[in-house]
Amino acid sequence: MNHISEAARTIPVLLETEVLVVGSGPGGLAAAVGAAREGARTTLVDRYGCFGGVITQVGVESIAWYRHEGTVDSEGIGIEFEQRATALGGTEPESQSLSEALDPELFKCVADELVREAGVEPLLHCLAVEPIMDGGTIKGVVAESKSGRQALLAARVIDATGDADLAYRAGVPCRTTPVGEMMGVTVTFSCAGVDKQRFLDYVKAQAPTYKDWSTGWRIETSGKEDHLFSPYLQEPFELARQAGIIPEDVTSIGGTWGRISGSGEATYLNMVYLRGYDCTDVRDLTRAEIEGRRQARLAIEALRRFAPGFEHARLRAFGMTLGTRDSRKIFGRCDLTGDDVRSEARYEDAIGIFPEFIDGHGLLVLPTTGRYFQVPYGILVPQKVDNLLVAGRCVAGDKLSHAAIRSQMCCAVTGQAAGVAAAVSLRSGATTAEVDVTRLQTALRRQGVRLF
Ligand SMILES: Cc1cc2nc3c(=O)[nH]c(=O)nc-3n(C[C@H](O)[C@H](O)[C@H](O)COP(=O)(O)OP(=O)(O)OC[C@H]3O[C@@H](n4cnc5c(N)ncnc54)[C@H](O)[C@@H]3O)c2cc1C
Repeated sequence: MNHISEAARTIPVLLETEVLVVGSGPGGLAAAVGAAREGARTTLVDRYGCFGGVITQVGVESIAWYRHEGTVDSEGIGIEFEQRATALGGTEPESQSLSEALDPELFKCVADELVREAGVEPLLHCLAVEPIMDGGTIKGVVAESKSGRQALLAARVIDATGDADLAYRAGVPCRTTPVGEMMGVTVTFSCAGVDKQRFLDYVKAQAPTYKDWSTGWRIETSGKEDHLFSPYLQEPFELARQAGIIPEDVTSIGGTWGRISGSGEATYLNMVYLRGYDCTDVRDLTRAEIEGRRQARLAIEALRRFAPGFEHARLRAFGMTLGTRDSRKIFGRCDLTGDDVRSEARYEDAIGIFPEFIDGHGLLVLPTTGRYFQVPYGILVPQKVDNLLVAGRCVAGDKLSHAAIRSQMCCAVTGQAAGVAAAVSLRSGATTAEVDVTRLQTALRRQGVRLF
């Protein structure tokens, strides 16, 4: 690739804050609310026009679809997301679990309220492009927006961008899953004009289970999941392939459905899973958006032809942006492994718990038995850079642990801990790497987090 040199320039300082959170998915939103509730002056920045990340921008509704009888769940701001959305009339019972499916549109308002009530300064339409460094310490970020290029200065910064963009640019050692092994990306879509009862009757007759995933998605279960109901749809797409509606070489169509309203809107259709795209490459993101939309239209045609209840369905909307699951992760003070998740790992520096739930990289394990692991603070603490913490799916860990830690609820666990740790470290005059873990755990418990 050719290079040019950018000229150095002087830019205005838009704001100075104590804790700056970049990215507002379940990780960043929980981080900002956690930090502000701990008394820190906090700013939350997102590149789009709403907070919520994948929930509101991609439209993923199922924040806790793993929850079954017997699940020992985390507690804290993630659970509050679900409860606050329910209180606002923005949920419906999720079809495969003991959880609520979020209405992504109303969740934009839930996020606004959480931010306002906690006293977080909101900043939307603002893309953080570069960390501001003083040696090995982060001091803020350079951001681009309609107001131009400006500096946001902060005593503590939390990278909740999903892709560890800031940590990477600050020089933190990171790993990126090889493209051929990256989890797929998805253009989600919704349809109007669905005959809800007719569709649900069809699903009931099909009685799909998680075992069906092993044929469509080549995913193994741990066995105990096999008989459980799953909103997984395969038959209409197989019939569409036989009828020539879906070309032979398009093997990425198939998947799950979410809420269906009484007025016939299927609000969350997750049915296009594209592999081989690098989520940190702008050309790949462009190609995936376009190919995803093409395949979503093929999926709709298949549904119209072969899914009873969808005969008169029509496209209502695509997700605001491509949904990406897996890209760059930091190397932290410690790394979480798949073995840790599967062996109920325990840590001195635990900042929360999460059930043994694995969804991805060829394995599905549902937490039906009460098993859980503790989440260590060390996976939030990047190597080499001070006063920077990482929250959400890009915390330190291997491929298999990513299939657990990427869950929205677990992103909220790491987010809340990052926010509280930033605030506690500020108050005590320690860096984020040196923060007293006992004080951090006390503050987290006070905020309602379950540590063991
Ligand atoms: C299609 C799909 C289906 C999924 N299904 C489920 C499911 O059913 N249940 C579940 O629990 N999980 C699911 N996941 C995974 C889960 O949604 C994500 O792992 C989770 O949302 C990650 O949270 P996060 O806070 O790390 O990042 P994200 O939710 O990705 O949020 C990152 C935020 O950072 C912002 N941002 C990024 N860069 C910048 C920047 N430079 N400046 C400013 N803002 C920036 C983005 O706009 C975004 O708001 C799914 C994911 C996808 C894509």
